[in-house]
Amino acid sequence: MLHAPIAPPLPDDDLRAETLAVRAGQARSPFGEHAEAMYLTSSFVFENAAQAAARFADAEEGNVYARFSNPTTRMFEARLAALEGAEDCIAAASGMSAILALCLAHLKAGDHVAASNGLFGATVQLFNNILSRCGIATTMVEATDLSAWSAAIRPETRLFFLETPTNPLTRIVDIAALSRLARSRGILLAVDNSFCSPALQKPLQLGADVSVYSATKYLDGQGRVLGGAVCGAKPLTDEVFRFLRTAGPTLSAFNAWVLLKGLETLKLRIEAQSKNALALAQWLEAHEKVARVYYPGLASHPQHALAQRQQTAGGGIVSFEVKGGGAEAWRVIDACRLISITANLGDVKTTITHPASTTHGRLSQEARAAAGISDSLIRLSVGLEAPPDIARDLARGIGGGRGQIAEGR
Ligand SMILES: *Cc1c(COP(=O)(O)O)cnc(C)c1O
Repeated sequence: MLHAPIAPPLPDDDLRAETLAVRAGQARSPFGEHAEAMYLTSSFVFENAAQAAARFADAEEGNVYARFSNPTTRMFEARLAALEGAEDCIAAASGMSAILALCLAHLKAGDHVAASNGLFGATVQLFNNILSRCGIATTMVEATDLSAWSAAIRPETRLFFLETPTNPLTRIVDIAALSRLARSRGILLAVDNSFCSPALQKPLQLGADVSVYSATKYLDGQGRVLGGAVCGAKPLTDEVFRFLRTAGPTLSAFNAWVLLKGLETLKLRIEAQSKNALALAQWLEAHEKVARVYYPGLASHPQHALAQRQQTAGGGIVSFEVKGGGAEAWRVIDACRLISITANLGDVKTTITHPASTTHGRLSQEARAAAGISDSLIRLSVGLEAPPDIARDLARGIGGGRGQIAEGR
């Protein structure tokens, strides 16, 4: 087949996630390098004209041109597929190009999509402003209401698309329940798993058909490269591969090499970030200037039980509302000296965002209100700094000093 795994098999087929993270997918060259090699080449050499013909005809496995495949990219795909428990994985240049490729590989004019109302902003734009021009219609559905998904189904509905936890309010969508509905109606279920990563949540095991990633977030985790991926059964990913190799937004070998290293420490990072996030969420919840905290790991989260069933930890994203409205939220953000004011998330460095005026700034005031995004809302992506240091930085704006958060973790 076109895009078969290139890595030799591991000695056992039941290796644990920690082992797969550093071992899965590696293919060594005849030079015998220990670490994964980075293949910076745009094309590949054939032994003779017959081999070139066979590769072009898909009659023989092998590399042809870097828009089609690259050994470093293939190692990243194989490692992510192993961590995800997916039959295959196809990488893309960014999270958005992965979502675009998934949609254009599996949808056509006349098809309909039901998508959750808690999606990343560019994904909403893609469905509403770009795919709509290709004759693909999308209905936005209340993410946590199973009956709303059911009511949105039309005869031409082909795809359910969701994120969980949602951004920035960390609402949880029940993947297993939605997968039963999707399956019973012959609809493909795709989960954008960027917030949890396979280290905390495995959508395919919960019944989803596809899990899609912005690898830019936790998979890299260190704010260095863009990347994306689509994981699932091979017939599904093969279609995505055919789209990508023709349309072109493939992942660069350099980015794939960086992401391979990211996967090695993914579980260690995101579990530590989840611990830090829980400590900060508890600190914020007890803070007199904080009106409300949104974090799936808190017992006060309305879907805490579902989050505990579906995820192995709460993740690194904590949102909270300060008392005093938008001006007060900006004051808290501006007082930070350690935490970075940036819209990116999933980084080892803690970042802070004011969703109402940035990521959700293009929505009308009414649409924002309907989505529950108030002017006093602040989103934190918690990194690996010591929680007391993060709390001290937040306390510059909201008050409360060092010592209010436990030193030990
Ligand atoms: C960032 C993000 C995307 C888009 O990914 P890019 O790599 O920026 O293209 C998609 N989904 C989610 C949940 C994201 O956070």
